[in-house]
Amino acid sequence: MIKDIATPLRTKAILEKHGFSFKKSLGQNFLIDLNILNRIVDFAELTENSGAIEIGPGIGALTEQLAKRAKKVVAFEIDGRLLPILKETLNPYPHVKVIHNDVLKVNVSEVIKSEFEADQDLMVVANLPYYVTTPIIMKLLSERLPIRGMVVMLQKEVADRISASPGTKDYGSLSIAIQYYTNAKTVMIVPKTVFMPQPNVDSAVIRLTRREKPPVEVVNEEFFFEVVRASFAQRRKTIFNNLASFFNGQLEKKQVEEVLVYAQIDPKRRGETLAIQEFAVLSDHFYKIISE
Ligand code: SAM
Repeated sequence: MIKDIATPLRTKAILEKHGFSFKKSLGQNFLIDLNILNRIVDFAELTENSGAIEIGPGIGALTEQLAKRAKKVVAFEIDGRLLPILKETLNPYPHVKVIHNDVLKVNVSEVIKSEFEADQDLMVVANLPYYVTTPIIMKLLSERLPIRGMVVMLQKEVADRISASPGTKDYGSLSIAIQYYTNAKTVMIVPKTVFMPQPNVDSAVIRLTRREKPPVEVVNEEFFFEVVRASFAQRRKTIFNNLASFFNGQLEKKQVEEVLVYAQIDPKRRGETLAIQEFAVLSDHFYKIISE
């Protein structure tokens, strides 16, 4: 009988055997609760033909549960000290491949091509290192990888921002960026006690399901995201003030106001009240004016 990795006793024994000490700077908070792990994997809805991509396997707690349900698992781990440990803990699962690298530096698209079958159902499933949650999610989404979606554990505060609706305090450029690529839903709030060591912040699991196509069509995607970010540059300022600063040197204040009025956006509104469709109309109008 193979003993599961994710129990407090087994985790402690593995760490002691290898003399492993946690690196806070790498966001190392390992899961020690099988029930939570199983629920995370449930949310990914894997089949026996699915492939799973994990970021940061740690000592393999989640990797092992993924391996029990997926046809193949590829995991990226930055910390070389974990490699000999993973070799041992994941020995019973030959269909797991651990790649020693920083996921932010990897060409994930190439890895998918070489490690998975063409058209294989793929999900990213991870307990993310909290110091780089947003860059990792944004990298994987903006590269438009052939994945069905992601189920990831992250700081509750970031999960709140990702799934926020217009008009709420958590709504911002991150909500829009992620909702542009996916349907986002917080599926579980997780207590600190299921980690070793316990993190300082509360955690949540979100499920991101990739959209077939974005909810809005824009002329220039990069410019759209720039306008969105600029609109939230100073949250207490009006959209007019934020955009007037952003286009300073390129457009007169009067022109900025005219574009807002033309796009039927009251210049006195704040960015947090605009729906993604309104940002799309607005950025297309600005794009037209500045490319004339
Ligand atoms: N999956 C394990 C679990 O749930 O117990 C560990 C999760 S722990 C929160 C995050 C893991 O990500 C650590 O193993 C850490 O070394 C690794 N990590 C941190 N930054 C990384 C990066 N840029 N690329 C790949 N792995 C990273």
